[in-house]
Order: sequence, then C-alpha cells, then structure tokens
Amino acid sequence: MPLSHYMALLIALLVLAIAVLLIVGRRRRDREHQAHASALREREDTLRLALWASNELYWQYDLDRRELESTRILPAHGGELELRHHLDRDHAIHPDDLPLVVERLRNYVQGHTPMFLSEHRVRDTDGTWLWVRARGRSVGRDADGRVTRIAGTARNVTDIQRQERERRIAAEVMRNMAEAVVVTDDDFRVVTVNPAFTRMSGYDVDEIVGREASILNSGQHDAAYYEAARRTARDAGVWSGEMWQRRRDGHEFLCAMQATAIREPGGQRRLFVLVATDITDRRRIEQELRYLANYDTLTNLPNRTLLSERLSRAIVRARRQGTRAALLFLDLDRFKDVNDSLGHATGDRILRMAAQRLQQAAGSTHTVARIGGDEFTVLLEDLADGCEADACAQRLIEAFDEPLRLDDRQEIVITPSIGISVYPDHALVPTDLLKHADTAMYQAKSAGRRTFLRYTDAMDSETRRRAAIVAALRRVVERGELSLAYQPQVSLVDGRITGVEALLRWHSPELGDIPPTQFIPLAEEGGTILAIGEWVLREACRTLADWRQAGQHDVVMAVNVSAVQLLRSDLPRIVERVLRETAVEARHLELELTESMLMANAALAAERLQTFRRLGVSIAVDDFGTGYSSLAYLRRLPITTLKIDKAFIDDLGGPSDGEDAAITTTVIAMAHSLGLQVIAEGVESPQQLAFLRQHRCDVVQGFWLARPMPAGECLQFLREWPRRAALAAPPAP
Ligand code: C2E
Ligand code: MG
Ligand code: MG
Repeated sequence: MPLSHYMALLIALLVLAIAVLLIVGRRRRDREHQAHASALREREDTLRLALWASNELYWQYDLDRRELESTRILPAHGGELELRHHLDRDHAIHPDDLPLVVERLRNYVQGHTPMFLSEHRVRDTDGTWLWVRARGRSVGRDADGRVTRIAGTARNVTDIQRQERERRIAAEVMRNMAEAVVVTDDDFRVVTVNPAFTRMSGYDVDEIVGREASILNSGQHDAAYYEAARRTARDAGVWSGEMWQRRRDGHEFLCAMQATAIREPGGQRRLFVLVATDITDRRRIEQELRYLANYDTLTNLPNRTLLSERLSRAIVRARRQGTRAALLFLDLDRFKDVNDSLGHATGDRILRMAAQRLQQAAGSTHTVARIGGDEFTVLLEDLADGCEADACAQRLIEAFDEPLRLDDRQEIVITPSIGISVYPDHALVPTDLLKHADTAMYQAKSAGRRTFLRYTDAMDSETRRRAAIVAALRRVVERGELSLAYQPQVSLVDGRITGVEALLRWHSPELGDIPPTQFIPLAEEGGTILAIGEWVLREACRTLADWRQAGQHDVVMAVNVSAVQLLRSDLPRIVERVLRETAVEARHLELELTESMLMANAALAAERLQTFRRLGVSIAVDDFGTGYSSLAYLRRLPITTLKIDKAFIDDLGGPSDGEDAAITTTVIAMAHSLGLQVIAEGVESPQQLAFLRQHRCDVVQGFWLARPMPAGECLQFLREWPRRAALAAPPAP
C-alpha cells in the first residue's frame, strides 16, 4: 500500500477517532448538562413548594431604583405551582406604617440590626390592607460595600394578627370585668381566675389555681346543693342560679352565678367558665324593700298589705279545715287628742308601746298588724267558735288597764275599742271581714269605748246612720239645731237648789232627736266638739246671766266638757272670755269632766285644771266609779266635786244593793276626807234619796227631783222651789 494510502487511512482513522471522541464527549456533556438542569429544576420545584407551603412570598428591593420585585407561588392549572413575578415602583405600604418600616430598613442598612424585620400593612391587589411580616438580608453591595439590594420573604399574618388581637381583648375584658370569672377543668379544679374573683373571694391567683372550686362552698347550702349544680352543668352544659360562697376569711356572700361548659380551643378538654356577681347587698336591699312594703316601720308590726295576705291564707286554711278565723279590729280611744296635745313624738312612742303590749297580750302565734294611725288588727286562726275571739278581745282590753309608762314622771292610760268579725259567719273574703270588724269597732266606740263587739248585720244600718250623723254634725251650730236642757241639783244639807247641769240636746230636721251619748263621741272624733262645746258654754252662761237678772243669784251652772276640749283647745282662755262676755262670775261655773278622760292623761289634765282653779271655776269629776282612778290619785288633781255615777245609785235602798251601797258609802266618806263635795247622779226614788241622806251625801240630781228641762221651765222651777221645799213636800218622782 502506498504510503499515501497509508497516510490517508491513518488520517481517516484519526478523523474518525476524533469524531467518535467528539460525539462521545458531547453526549456525555449533554447527559451531564441534562442531569444538572434536572437537579436545578428539582431544586427550584422544592423551593417553590417550600415557598408555597410556607405561604410566604419572595421579594427583592432595589434601594437605588426603589423597585420592589415580588415573586409569589400560586397553584396553576394541572396542579403545577406557578411563579408570578411582579415589579412594583410602589411599595404599597400603609402610610401609617411607612415611617417605621423606613426606620427599620435604615437600621439594618447601617448595620444596627442583623437583618431587616418588620410587621406592617401593605395594600393587597384588591385594595384591602393586609398585615405582613417581612424579613430580609442584603443580596447586593456596591464597590463601597454599601447595600444596594435586599431580598427576603414576606408572610401574610392578617389572620394571626386578628386572632392575637381578639385574644388580647378577651384577656383584657376578663381582667377588667366586674364579675368574678373562674375557669375550671372538667373536675372543677381551678384553671384560671380574674382579678374580680380575687377581690370577691380574697384568694390570689396562685393560691387558687389547681385547687377544687369547692373550697368556696359555704355553710348556707348542704353538699347536695353544690353537687346538683355541678351535675346540671356537666349534663346540660350550663347552670345558673344563686349560690352562697365563702371568702378566704370565712365571710359568706351570695352570688348570682352562671356556669357554662366550653371546649378548650384546639383541644378536646372540656372547661367550665363560672361567672359570678356578688348580690349580697342587692339581696339585703331587696329584703329591706320587701320589709318596707310589708311592715310598719314605726312599730315593726306587719302592715295592711301583709295583713291582707295573711288574712287570705287564713281564710283558705279555715275553709279547708272547717275551722273559723276571727279578725279583731282595734282602735285606741281618743288617741287623736293624745297625739295633738302631747306631740307626735310622744304619740309615736305611745303607738310603739301599744303595739308591744298588743303583741304580748295576743301571743306570738297570732298576727298583730298596724293598718294605719292608731288602728291595729289581730288575726286569730283555728277557732272552734266566735267566743274564743271574745275572750281574746277581753284579754287585750285588760292588757291596757295598766298605764303605759312614757318616762319616769309620765304615764298614760290608753284604752282600746275592739270590733270582731268572724269567717265564715260574717264574711267570706278579706275585704269584707276587715270592713265588718271596722264597723263593729265603731259600734264598740259608740257603746262607750273600752269594750268589744262582735259584728252583726244590724250594724251596717247603724254605720250608715252614723255617717249621716257625722255629716249633719258639721253644720249643727250654724243651723241652730242645738239646745240645752237644765237639770237642777238639790242640797241634802239645807234643801236649797245649789246648781243646775246643762245637758245638750240636738234636734235634726232630717234625723230627729239624737241623744248626746250618740253624737258626742262622733263630734269628738271629727273635731266638731270644739265648736259645739264653746256654744254650750256660752249658751249655759247666757242662761245663767238671764236667771240672775230674774233674781236667781245662788245657782251654779255645771257644764260638761269633753276630753277633746280639755286637751286640744285653749279652753281656759275660752272660759275666761265667755265669763267676761256674759258677766258671770267664775265661782258660778263648774266644769264636769269624766273620770276616764282625766285618767287618760293625768299630767296634762292636772296642769289644765290648775288654770281653771286659778280662775275660780270649780271642777267636778263626772261618772265617778266607772273609770279606774283611785281616790288617792284624784287627790292630786285640783277638783272640788265628785259625781257618783248613776250605775252605783240605781240599786241603792233596794234589796240587792250590797256592793253598790258599800262603794257609795266609802266614796262619800273618802271624798269628804279629801274635802270634796259629793253629788249623786240619777237619783230616781225616795229609797235612794233616803240612803244617800243617811250616808251624808251632799247633793242629789235626778228624776226624783226634776228631769232636764228647757231654760224657761227651769227658771220657773227655781222660783217655785223655796215654796215647795218649805211645804216639805218632796216633788213627785
Ligand atoms: P252626764 O253628764 O252624766 O249627765 C247625766 C245624764 O243622766 C243625762 O243624760 C241626764 O239626762 C241623765 N239623767 C239625769 N237624771 C237621771 C235619772 O234620774 N235617771 C236617768 N235614767 N237618767 C238621768 P243625757 O242628757 O242623755 O246626757 C248624757 C251624757 O252626755 C252626759 O252624761 C254627758 O256625759 C254627755 N253630755 C250631755 N251634754 C253634754 C255637753 O254639753 N257636753 C259634753 N261634752 N257632754 C255632754
Ligand atoms: Mg255631767
Ligand atoms: Mg254623769
């Protein structure tokens, strides 16, 4: 083979070899390149995934150009994660946050902080503000080492921020709540409490956390109560109610509490939130208000409201058991005068004492109530018949025999009048029972006070008549319906007529003749007695003046005076004026006051009587023996005359005069020893006269001598008397 061929072959082989080498090398390079590219792609995918998973975006900021470039990973079609670049000249930072962000950036750039870290708001593509947390580092510097680019990640923390804010608000609310909050676990062990709880219970957080909530249990409920509340909270998920709790110092307080079961956020554990308000004070105020609504604050007795309630219940019980219930309606006699004359403070004290005495006498099992002014009621239950109510009423009246002691120097006798109504005999409902008992009480008053009466149907018409009398009384003086009758009194010593008693008469065109025993108590009640009394006094003195002109110079005029006049009006001044007007001498006037009225308020009566005595007016104690005064007591009063009540005279000289005779003789003897003149009232028979004469009674008055008569007739009687007496012929009874 020629050399040239050999060379050519060699070259061809060489070329081939080189070509092969080139191809192989290139393929390897291609393979290597491919492997590198796929590794790069894989890494990029992982990065994308990481970015996507972390929900962060990647950003770069060019400090010189002030350009913000952000890269966000979003899922594209087909599950791919797609990169989205965004170049922005506007950083979109909230203007409020911008100064802070700039400062943080400056701090980093100047090397004060190891990295750029900032939480601020940026505008989202839809225009809303998002909270982002951004962190970054420098990724480019210029020749001087100055940072020119920063890159990093940013994350949307809007939700986290909101949750954090809500948590902080919740914590703040709990901290500032006035209500105590206790969070416990499922076993009611304390997990946390708020400051209000510490204030309310006295337990600090670290003292109570981990302990059983039951250490707050008080002695006011038994263990079962607390257990039941917990069971309800567990079963129903909620419990609310009132619960007494005990403070750390042992003091107990009442809570309004609500327990609610909740799930621990993110956990399976169940918790209980107990919210409690201290209502001890509120409850006390409520109780006080209830007390005020149901009790009388002056006497602490139940008031009308509570009485009505108890009365209703008593009626229901009585109906069920077939028993009776009685209502005693009690009014203090002449209390108004006492109140007006002694002042309201004393009046209040008397009411309190009366209330006490009533409660004592009635016994603690019966409801004693004050239903107004001086009106009280006693409710009796479980009665077999009405007589038991009578017995109780009697007991109440007797309980007032003993004077009420106002202070060391002053005591006062107060008497009650009582009306009784019985369920079911008189009424079936509370209002009627009360009304009928009231009616009966008024009747008891007209029957002379210090007594009791059971209701009868007849009383209703009497009540109406009484109302008519009260109305008519208001105009009785101006309409000139009153007149006086005069009843002479004769001395048993010398047979002369020593005095005349003026007795009031009322003829009403509408109601006819009304006896003074009927209308005077009503006039006293309504106050008209003041005008009436003054009229009587003036009329009597005028008549006396007339008689004196007619030649009768020695007669004393006796005028009855009511307690109301004595206690309320300025009676001494009125008497003085009338005497002056009519030119009657004081020694020719005698005032008659009943024993019970003097006894009722001895101190005041004594003081007033003294003024009359100074004027020269005599004082007679009327109806003596019916009250409760002793002669020894009367000695302290400046009186001149005793009038023995007709009740003691009635049987004198008769076959059954035993006790009355003894009383009369004793009274006469003792009165004389006190220097008092004695007049016997209501003398009707010669036998009575004989007895009285024998026992040295000074003066007698009564039908035996003469009936009360009009002024003219009486003057005639006075004129004729000396002639009749001289004939020694006693007038026919
Ligand atoms: P008193 O002051 O005790 O008057 C005596 C009463 O007995 C009078 O009744 C009189 O008519 C009556 N009487 C007199 N003698 C006899 C008698 O022999 N037999 C009987 N059965 N009765 C006799 P009267 O007039 O109905 O007065 C009753 C009461 O009314 C008086 O009792 C007195 O307390 C009161 N009264 C009468 N007038 C007045 C007055 O002007 N002012 C005041 N405050 N009370 C008066
Ligand atoms: Mg009299
Ligand atoms: Mg009398």
